[in-house]
Amino acid sequence: MTQLQVNNPATGEKIAALQADDAASVATKARQARAGQPAWAARPLAERKICIEGFRAGVVRDLESLAITMTLETGKPIRMSRNELTGLLGRIDFFLEEADSATATETVLDEGGMREQIQHVPLGVVGNISAWNYPWFVGCNVIVPALLTGNAVLYKPSEYAAMTGLEIARLLHEAGVPRDVFIALIGEGAVGAALLEQDIDGLFFTGSYATGARIAKAVGSRLVKLQLELGGKDPTYVCDDADPKAAAESLADGAMYNTGQSCCSVERIYVHEKIHDAFVSTFVDTVKTFKAGDPMSEDTYLGSITRAPQLDVLDAQVADARAKGAKLHIGGKRIAGKGNAFEATVFSNVSHDMELMKEESFGPIIGIQKVASDEEAVRLMNDTRYGLTAGVYTPDRARAEAVLSKVNAGSVYWNCCDRVSPRLPWSGFGDSGVGLTLSSYGIEAFTRPRAWHLRAAG
Ligand code: NAD
Repeated sequence: MTQLQVNNPATGEKIAALQADDAASVATKARQARAGQPAWAARPLAERKICIEGFRAGVVRDLESLAITMTLETGKPIRMSRNELTGLLGRIDFFLEEADSATATETVLDEGGMREQIQHVPLGVVGNISAWNYPWFVGCNVIVPALLTGNAVLYKPSEYAAMTGLEIARLLHEAGVPRDVFIALIGEGAVGAALLEQDIDGLFFTGSYATGARIAKAVGSRLVKLQLELGGKDPTYVCDDADPKAAAESLADGAMYNTGQSCCSVERIYVHEKIHDAFVSTFVDTVKTFKAGDPMSEDTYLGSITRAPQLDVLDAQVADARAKGAKLHIGGKRIAGKGNAFEATVFSNVSHDMELMKEESFGPIIGIQKVASDEEAVRLMNDTRYGLTAGVYTPDRARAEAVLSKVNAGSVYWNCCDRVSPRLPWSGFGDSGVGLTLSSYGIEAFTRPRAWHLRAAG
């Protein structure tokens, strides 16, 4: 039997050995999903909603143990694990409230015996290959609307969040979603690759650009609906009229929350030269208050670097920035001990010659660059192949809108950062992805429109 070993990134200790899939079991499960989907789609939406309401109730009931499982396998600080689960409840509520209107058949013409209607038909069997950094959020952004709209889901959680993936499956099945409608596939990348070979109608992926590009190549000629939610190098600009203290406190959290491992973490900061020094000083003071330590402790803010290889990326970005003249204010190295941990690291005097300002860091490390004008800020913000989010801090809304409308990003923030709303579409421009989740569009995304041309006889 193939096994997936799960280690606690905070200690390096083995915490579980899960039964893993292989190419044969993935093929069997894909056939089961194909067989189970029509009966699920034939059930009224109201019945599918009752299952999702039951799933939500299960999350509420088991919230503490689900948070502990997520923290043990990912090293996410326990308070942030609880935050993710409570935030998830609002997302589920949104999907439940919106499902009827987002999927209702629309009549667009009714004239002279001719009626035209748009019906939203489920895609069929969808694959979901997911990331570990917010496993409940990114998993359920796909799973919940896909199930509500009548699809069967083959769900491949990250190998770094596989126990959470099995908990999602347990709660859905307990709530009445049939076992041949929601099926978890456990394993590493090879199991994801095996899923791509199956008879599927849609593939929804969350993860790195490198894997997303490989998946796009693999399924490109298959004509399945493909959505990719990928990485970012998200910039924020702090204007000269902003309050440097308030902006620094907000952005320190935006850069370091979840140990910097959010797709929408602030990864680059540009500050107008007039307030640059005051901003950097408060930013560093704020970061000093972020306690690193055991992710299970209530007062830990900085937890583990979930994937050990990312430590090499962080080391390399620090070495490159230092060699090219960046000023290190705090941090800069791994935290000694058994687990994977890295100090909160702040650089100023950075430039776009440095990897730190070009490639996704995905850790608690940030570069702050001085700029002389809004034009320079816009040019630097757009000097990236990514386009997930971007922000501006200023009391002047017109100024913020003028800057943000020129920036290539799927989500833009005025005086806030690192924020996702279920009511707004979540999408990346450029190499940050194709397609979207969340909002009513993120429900429709799991359907295809069928056009009805209906002429009454006689
Ligand atoms: P990853 O690309 O390493 O892995 C993602 C998933 O792909 C995992 O389940 C993995 O097993 C699977 N996989 C690996 N190789 C595969 C292959 N050849 N074929 C099919 N599947 C394969 O990414 P990760 O480390 O899990 O996640 C971190 C990345 O995800 C970061 O870049 C982050 O920015 C991004 N992310 C983006 C969003 C978003 O909404 N845009 C959200 C969360 C994370």
